[in-house]
Amino acid sequence: MQPAQEFGDNPVEVRETGHYTEEYVPSFVEKWDSLIDWEKRAESEGNFFIDLLRKWGVKSVLDVATGTGFHSVRLLSAGFETVSADGSAEMLAMAFENGTRQGGHILRVVQADWRWLNRDVHGEYDAIVCLGNSFTHLFSERDRRKALAEFYAMLKHDGILVLDQRNYDAILDDGYTSKHTYYYCGDDVTVEPEYVDEGLCRMRYSFPDDSVYHLNMFPLRKEYARRLMSDVGFQRIQTYGDFQHTYRGEQPDFFVHVAEKE
Ligand code: SAM
Repeated sequence: MQPAQEFGDNPVEVRETGHYTEEYVPSFVEKWDSLIDWEKRAESEGNFFIDLLRKWGVKSVLDVATGTGFHSVRLLSAGFETVSADGSAEMLAMAFENGTRQGGHILRVVQADWRWLNRDVHGEYDAIVCLGNSFTHLFSERDRRKALAEFYAMLKHDGILVLDQRNYDAILDDGYTSKHTYYYCGDDVTVEPEYVDEGLCRMRYSFPDDSVYHLNMFPLRKEYARRLMSDVGFQRIQTYGDFQHTYRGEQPDFFVHVAEKE
């Protein structure tokens, strides 16, 4: 029997940084990976991150939210020296397997929680990437500051942090009724906010076989995220919308922050 997701009697009360390891149960992760074809995902993302890292002259990258390895594998294929970290051992096992399957890469994996990153990961990097809306797993301001300070410490003096997030301002401000359903790769997976308040965005993931999974995330506002990065010492923070260099009136679904250490 595979373990099921466990949110207890009152799922909207689950607002805890360490809970992520219980949310990514193997059946959820396997389903996600089998439905979201990596080629399609790569097509929709384009070369945004690769181009950005090249533009910055980056050679070494620490992927702190490896998950099943999508970005780590892309980075290795593009020639970056990459170390793949994640707090979930199950995710890293899957990432390692995906690495060998997709392009014969041997991933250098390290299990590490961001709050204690320097304890478990060694070295200094030109760039740290924290992608796939991962940072919103942190539920307290203390944890967010701690994680950012750990990222900052592991960068070379002129390094950059690339961190993306869902546009929670739109979800919080447009209200519950105008919630938007996000479709991934056709109708295969739908993702929608099931419950939202200033301290929680509970996302519902529905699959074509009628199975349903959830993730409880902290709804990080864009300006707040930028302020935190600047508070821990990042000198300049540029924010892009939906992998584009500019965004105007229409709301992007995602933001990408590029924070410079120097
Ligand atoms: N970047 C991958 C992608 O886009 O497919 C994975 C994204 S997944 C939404 C978030 C990942 O962040 C999970 O693999 C989870 O285990 C990891 N994670 C969440 N909180 C963490 C923490 N405090 N420390 C280390 N890893 C964490």
